[in-house]
Amino acid sequence: MNSQPHSISMVNLVRQYQRYQTEIDAAMGSVLEVGDFIQGNAVKELESDLCQHLSVKHTITCGNGTDALQLAFMALDLPQGCEVIIPSFAYAALAEVVLLLGFVPVFAEVDPHTYLIDPDDIARKITEKTKAIAPVHLFGLVCNMDAILEIAQNRGLYVVEDAAQAIGAFYRGEKFQGFAGTLGTVGTTSFFPSKNLGCYGDGGAVFCSSDSLALIIRQLANHGQSSKYIHDIVGVNSRLDTLQAAVLRVKLKHLEAFNRARAGIADRYCAGLKELVDEGNLVLPQSNPKMENGSTKLSHVFHQFTLRLTVHEKREAFRQFLAQAAVPTMVYYPLPLHRQKAYFQSVGLTITENLCNSVLSLPICPELSVEEQDYIIATIVDFFKK
Ligand SMILES: *Cc1c(COP(=O)(O)O)cnc(C)c1O
Repeated sequence: MNSQPHSISMVNLVRQYQRYQTEIDAAMGSVLEVGDFIQGNAVKELESDLCQHLSVKHTITCGNGTDALQLAFMALDLPQGCEVIIPSFAYAALAEVVLLLGFVPVFAEVDPHTYLIDPDDIARKITEKTKAIAPVHLFGLVCNMDAILEIAQNRGLYVVEDAAQAIGAFYRGEKFQGFAGTLGTVGTTSFFPSKNLGCYGDGGAVFCSSDSLALIIRQLANHGQSSKYIHDIVGVNSRLDTLQAAVLRVKLKHLEAFNRARAGIADRYCAGLKELVDEGNLVLPQSNPKMENGSTKLSHVFHQFTLRLTVHEKREAFRQFLAQAAVPTMVYYPLPLHRQKAYFQSVGLTITENLCNSVLSLPICPELSVEEQDYIIATIVDFFKK
C-alpha cells in the first residue's frame, strides 16, 4: 500500500492563497481603502497588464467567461439563424450563447489525439449560412489555428476563440503565432476560481485587435452606453469587480510559473505512467515539446490532465478504485453537447462520443506536491497491476 497523503483535491485554491497571502491581502486592502469597487483603477490596470502579457491590443474585462463569449458574438452583429461551427466535445457555455443569441450551433468532430476541433470537419460543415467558427482550446492546448484561420480567411468567416482553459498557452504555427485568445477575430477567457488564472468569484475577459470591435464590446458590457446615461445600443451589465481585478493582477505575475508547474506535473504523470501506455492500458495527452532555441513559451498549459482508457468499460471501476484511495478524478465531459437535452441534434460524432465514454481527468494544479503526484501515479499503476 502506498502511504496516503493528507488530502488531495482536483484544485487547491486555499493552498495557493496561503502561498501568496501577503501580496493578495495587500492588493485587496488597497481597493477597500479607496472604495472604487466598480470599474476602479485595478480594472484598468489589469486590462493593460493583460494586453502587455498576451501581446494583444485590446482587453475588455467582464462578469464571467460566458458573458465574454456573449459579448464577443453580440459585437459581431451576426444575422439571426446563421450557423456557428463549434465542437461538441466541450463545455456548454459556447452552445448556450450561440442558441441564446438566435444562431444555430453546428457541431464539428474533434481530433482523437488532441481532443480539439478538427479543421477538416469544420470545412465539411460550412454552408452558405455559416458566419463564424468558434474553436475551444480545450484542457489548455491551442487548436490548429493555422488550418482554422486559413479556412476562415478563404470563406470570409469570423473566428471566436474560447480560451477559458488556455490562458497563457502560446501557439507556434507555420503561419500564425500568438497566445491563445489573440489569434482570431475575437477571443475570450474566464477567471473562474479554478481556471489557470482565477479570481475569488466570477470574472472574464474579451480580447481583440480591432479598435472598432473593442469599442462596441466595451459599450455592450456597460448597458450600451457611449457615455454616462447615453445608450446607443442595447447592451448588458457585465463588469469585473475591482476587488477581483486586484487579485488577478497579483496572480497574473505568477501565471507563467503556474503554467510551468502544471506542465511539469503533466511531464511527471507521463513519465510515471509510460509503462501503462506501452502495455496498451492508457492513452496520455501530448506533452509540451522540448523547448527549442531558448523559447520558454508553453504550447499546452494543462488546465486539465486528461487521459483515456483504452477499454472504456473499465473507467467506472478505475474511478472507484482511485476514489477509495482518496484520489479524486473528474470526467470532462460525460455527455457531448449534441446529446444534451438542451442542445440535442441527431448527428453522428463517433470520436466525440467515444471520448466522452473513455476520458478521465487527474488532479492538476500548481500546488499539487511531488509526493501527491507520485502517490497518484503509484495508485494508478496498482489498479492495472492488481
Ligand atoms: C469555464 C469555461 C467557460 C465559462 O466560463 P465562466 O466564467 O464559468 O462563465 C467557457 N468555456 C470554457 C471552455 C470553459 O472552460
